[in-house]
Amino acid sequence: MAAAAPPLLLALAVLATFALPAARAVLEDPAGLLRRAKEPAFMDWMVGVRRRIHENPELGYEEFETSELVRRELDAMGIPYKHPFAVTGVVATIGTGGPPFVALRADMDALAMQESVEWEHKSKVPGKMHGCGHDAHVAMLLGSAKILQEHGDELQGTVILVFQPAEEGGAGAKKMIEAGAIENIDAIFGLHVADVVPVGVLASRPGPIMAGSGFFEAVISGKGGHAALPHHTIDPILAASNVIVSLQQLVSREADPLDSQVIVSQASVQRCSATVDFLDKDRPFFPPTINSPELHDFFEKVASEMVGARNVRDKQPMMGAEDFAFYAEAIPSTYYYFVGMYNKTRGPQAPHHSPYFTINEDSLPYGAAMQASLAARYLVEHQSSASPDVNKNGLS
Ligand SMILES: [Zn+2]
Ligand SMILES: [Zn+2]
Repeated sequence: MAAAAPPLLLALAVLATFALPAARAVLEDPAGLLRRAKEPAFMDWMVGVRRRIHENPELGYEEFETSELVRRELDAMGIPYKHPFAVTGVVATIGTGGPPFVALRADMDALAMQESVEWEHKSKVPGKMHGCGHDAHVAMLLGSAKILQEHGDELQGTVILVFQPAEEGGAGAKKMIEAGAIENIDAIFGLHVADVVPVGVLASRPGPIMAGSGFFEAVISGKGGHAALPHHTIDPILAASNVIVSLQQLVSREADPLDSQVIVSQASVQRCSATVDFLDKDRPFFPPTINSPELHDFFEKVASEMVGARNVRDKQPMMGAEDFAFYAEAIPSTYYYFVGMYNKTRGPQAPHHSPYFTINEDSLPYGAAMQASLAARYLVEHQSSASPDVNKNGLS
């Protein structure tokens, strides 16, 4: 049994208890996490990771060395992971191994284009370039991993880090789901660097934020015959030409670009028949990316604590597609946002998918700290929804 404390010491101890504010968990201070991610050594490491990936761009489902780099960095941080999913995908876990489960996603693939930017870390692979910024996304998510792992004992659940292949048209997210990488996760957050959003700004919106997209093949059939007897034929070439012009005119000139349109019955106007194959197997249709309204409120709150309310902006929906949308098939709540890169003192910023595209590396700490903050806070705020079956996705 401990000896009773003398009265004076006891009084001081009580005073001290009341004088000190309750210590705030480090992971619940988004501004503090941003300061951490901006520290020179942290920043240098993230920039180094991003530049190594930039020098060695790999196309969808070929991200072998990028995947290896990710795993080496996770090993160095002592973070367990599973690999491979969907050829090159990596899924890592930080935290208790139990519910709730929240996921953070980065895409790893580059584009089949020649880099035209002359700089020290230019792509070393002819015809391939990180022209969309996925090299920055990988560096940011590794940054989030470092922040979360540094305070892993504070996590009140499990953070799943998803490094996926083939966002650029390859539907890597869909393949990750099919490979069982994404099971029993409550929410997922994804981001994209944005050329038009100022650096230091985080932007998004509730509801639809990115368009759906798909490919199709149309076969238009007519009736052959002699050119001298055109009235005995049905010319499919004329019908196909009409269809092309009509599709273009109807969608691009008559319809609200944010509405969906159905137009293929154009062929019947020319007495032809048409079949349309949406190529579901080879080129799956990308659904629109739709943000959960509840997660939007949550995002605004966390982002405001990190960068101040005036730097949290609304983003108009974009007509580009994102394979992040597939995660909604497997995860109840999904949220996608943009991390600003634009800084006028750097000069004009070339757009995404341009051979002159560049990353403003000052954006890296914002993505790293924001993803870490969203994940950690999500777990805190969803304790009551945590089901008791510990480690339900077996990824500890
Ligand atoms: Zn892209
Ligand atoms: Zn992209």
